[in-house]
Amino acid sequence: MDVKDNLKAINEEIEAVTAHPPTVIAVTKYVTIDRAQEAYDAGLRHFGENRIEGFLEKKAALPQDATFHFIGSLQTRKVKEVINEVDYLHSLDRQSLADEIEKRAVHTIRCFVQVNVAGEDSKHGFAPEEVMSFVEGLKDFEKIEVVGLMTMAPHIEDQTQLRTYFAELKRLQQKIAALGQLNAPCTELSMGMSNDYLSAISEGSTFIRIGTKLVG
Ligand SMILES: *Cc1c(COP(=O)(O)O)cnc(C)c1O
Repeated sequence: MDVKDNLKAINEEIEAVTAHPPTVIAVTKYVTIDRAQEAYDAGLRHFGENRIEGFLEKKAALPQDATFHFIGSLQTRKVKEVINEVDYLHSLDRQSLADEIEKRAVHTIRCFVQVNVAGEDSKHGFAPEEVMSFVEGLKDFEKIEVVGLMTMAPHIEDQTQLRTYFAELKRLQQKIAALGQLNAPCTELSMGMSNDYLSAISEGSTFIRIGTKLVG
């Protein structure tokens, strides 16, 4: 399927559930540069990659006005290779990563704190009850701006259950925003993938990360 047709179908579904459409991030980790370019030509301007190699390759190939999101787990020793190329980091998931970013970044990095909403062993991220104190501990960090929270929900079909996870992330986002911490506006929610984006949007998602259903 053309990316254009996929995007049109997705946008129609989104418009049916919300008056405030989220930003669509095209997750191009499975596809070639040509396919990523097709997504750009279809009008998409936000791109997500989860590995450094693919990230740098796609960023170099696409036009300058594309925005690049690093969505994968980032090893501490690899931070220096990529952090200054990143427009948004969706996977701030531990203190040691924050410390390394503070050391290596030359400008402020817009970060999402990753939350493991369902407590799955296979997933990275803070437990919901840990997020608040982690963010408060970043108060004096000059290179980190906590723009929001991110989660990867469990791979299940039960949309009612999924919505409870997304609603929990939204409550947590509002609590952190209410701190009024200068480097943690925390206004954004990065939640929703191919199998659950409509549920995520219904619960207030502002960025959805779509791979399979958009670019294949
Ligand atoms: C791969 C990936 C996605 C996209 O997943 P799809 O199910 O293909 O839409 C979204 N977020 C993260 C963090 C990913 O690694």
